[in-house]
Amino acid sequence: MNNPAFPAAATHAQATDRLGRPLRDLRISVTDRCNFRCVYCMPREAFGKDHQFLEHKELLSFEEITRLARIFTRHGVEKIRLTGGEPLVRRNIEQLIEMLAAIPGLDLTLTTNGSLLTKKARTLKAAGLQRISVSLDSLDDAVFKQMNDADFPVAKVLESIDAAAAAGLNPVKINMVVKRGLNDASIVPMARHFQGSGHILRFIEYMDVGHTNGWRMDDVVTAKQIIEMIDAQAPLEQADPNYRGEVAQRWRYRDGSGEIGVIASVTQAFCRDCTRARLSTEGRLFTCLFATAGYDLKSLLRGGASDEEISTAIDAIWRKRGDRYSEIRTAQTTKLEKIEMSYIGG
Ligand code: SAM
Repeated sequence: MNNPAFPAAATHAQATDRLGRPLRDLRISVTDRCNFRCVYCMPREAFGKDHQFLEHKELLSFEEITRLARIFTRHGVEKIRLTGGEPLVRRNIEQLIEMLAAIPGLDLTLTTNGSLLTKKARTLKAAGLQRISVSLDSLDDAVFKQMNDADFPVAKVLESIDAAAAAGLNPVKINMVVKRGLNDASIVPMARHFQGSGHILRFIEYMDVGHTNGWRMDDVVTAKQIIEMIDAQAPLEQADPNYRGEVAQRWRYRDGSGEIGVIASVTQAFCRDCTRARLSTEGRLFTCLFATAGYDLKSLLRGGASDEEISTAIDAIWRKRGDRYSEIRTAQTTKLEKIEMSYIGG
């Protein structure tokens, strides 16, 4: 098949993009649905009863996802994170994990809100999932419920973190998005709670993803402020990154009781080291979290393209990539009609 949108590339061997960045990570959104309505991600006003989610036939099947994942590994992808929406609401997700885990040399992980994890943790591990990240924005039930807008209690997420650790999905990472005035008072209690637990708590600066969350720079508590707040209570020192392009900056407690991370995507953009691509629920490939458009791989898959043709398309897309949204963010760019995180995959 000859698709003029994707001109043949000279070689498919691990291309770099226009800024010299290789492709290493792929985030795959397995569903655009979620059982939470986090105010900073899927606010109920925009994702209410009338919201049109994708129909099942529009989603990539597990076979299609696995086929693409195999092709992506030829282009340098070493790590796949399943996300969404809430990945654990996709039926039989463990089957997909088993299929992906059969691809040699792949680091396989998943991000979840934890609501369905307690009963699934062992099955996920047995299917081949290596690690897991669980989102939790506060230990205070009133604050957490205000943020998830689904009346979901903190205790159930804590229980799911224990279940994940007991199943061997270690180290469990805990993601906390911080929004000023909403959960900044939860920063120190969360740090205290997870200090010495062996889990790695990561604070995420509130980002202007999508266009429904009404983001304002004033709502961002910066990574620097977060570190200062914790350091004043429990002294920290910066640790070296585990690898180039690691998203979280690592900080260690000086008393040896573990580490935390901060993801400063707003105030200290890391675009120059960004090696991530995102595959949306319906098979569009996005080369930036803040993209306004993606490349339709599903029509290649369903149009009878060979692996070689799909590979050529991916190669051409990656070579063309010049995204560095977070480095050039301005009051104007934040108003762009960006793709929602629940669709593109967080
Ligand atoms: N449902 C899963 C979950 O809750 O982890 C996976 C999808 S969620 C979109 C992935 C991560 O993105 C979560 O940790 C969530 O808190 C984070 N996130 C969502 N919207 C965000 C925003 N506007 N700024 C920063 N992080 C955000």
